[in-house]
Amino acid sequence: ALNPVYPKPFNPITDKMFKKPDPKQHAQVPELVIDEKDGSQFKRGKFLGKGGFARCYELRDSKDEVWAAKVIPKAMLQKTTHKEKFVNEIDIHQSVSHAYIVKILKCVSDSNNMYILMELCSNRSLMELQKRRSYVTEPEARYFLKQIVSAVCYLHSNLIIHRDLKLGNVFIDGKMKLKVGDFGLATRLKNADERKDTLCGTPNYIAPEMLQHRKHSFEVDVWATGCILYTLLCGHPPFETTSLTETYNRIKSNQFTMPRSIGAYAAQLIRDLLQNNEFNRPKIDQVKTARFFYGYCPESLPVSALECVPKIE
Ligand code: ADP
Repeated sequence: ALNPVYPKPFNPITDKMFKKPDPKQHAQVPELVIDEKDGSQFKRGKFLGKGGFARCYELRDSKDEVWAAKVIPKAMLQKTTHKEKFVNEIDIHQSVSHAYIVKILKCVSDSNNMYILMELCSNRSLMELQKRRSYVTEPEARYFLKQIVSAVCYLHSNLIIHRDLKLGNVFIDGKMKLKVGDFGLATRLKNADERKDTLCGTPNYIAPEMLQHRKHSFEVDVWATGCILYTLLCGHPPFETTSLTETYNRIKSNQFTMPRSIGAYAAQLIRDLLQNNEFNRPKIDQVKTARFFYGYCPESLPVSALECVPKIE
């Protein structure tokens, strides 16, 4: 197909993907998971959440370390398209290693499921933080955005486009460090000049060039980074409306408002990142030097920041 495939509409307002897992295919996770390859054992812990075709559980290994395991029923992988998507996700995710990207320990399997063991992000994601806090202060936004930009720089320098950067895919670990995850829509280019025309799935912060069925590349992640910064500072996504069609129209016509409360340098960065013409957006490594980052940035954040404005000196 020449054009991107957008199988079903989704609601960007709720930050939820359209895909609903078939309850019959839900993974049944035994209390003790035993790897069929090497016999290693893991105790099932609490349920962490569910995504498109996976459910996440805590798994405790024999050394008492706790991991987040993404569980995919093997039955679901019988469909070639699902399998290819999954293999692509694991392949890309396993090839990366960065402080601000969720690490994969290994893949385990038993007779019913595949388990991807990842580092546990015990403080959920920026989506829950934003829902709880509504909006964050500029120093916090700087703290968060610096880490996201650092991770995306790493990905782009390795020719990987994430393609679904959103608050819900930026996880928060126990030390309040961010970890970009969910490589379900990611792609690796053959060379830096390659441009993609297909995408199976619907990114939450979809860029105008994707909506207009034009070819896309790294710039879509820069766009999504702009949407993340806007949402963190303003408390709602830039193109949010109650109708999907209207939201798409606003994205295509670059119609968003900048609240007066937003600082001048933050506003400038948002405008740069959200440029309709993808070729006018800065490259992700240029974003690092934006004036916005000259301002105060805390080195760490207290866990209390998940719920209320932290006291920052
Ligand atoms: P999908 O790709 O199917 O959408 P996700 O990667 O979004 O699946 O994971 C589903 C849910 O599992 C997430 O929304 C989150 O609640 C939880 N989760 C995923 N990865 C981790 C992790 N590393 N640590 C803690 N929870 C996680």
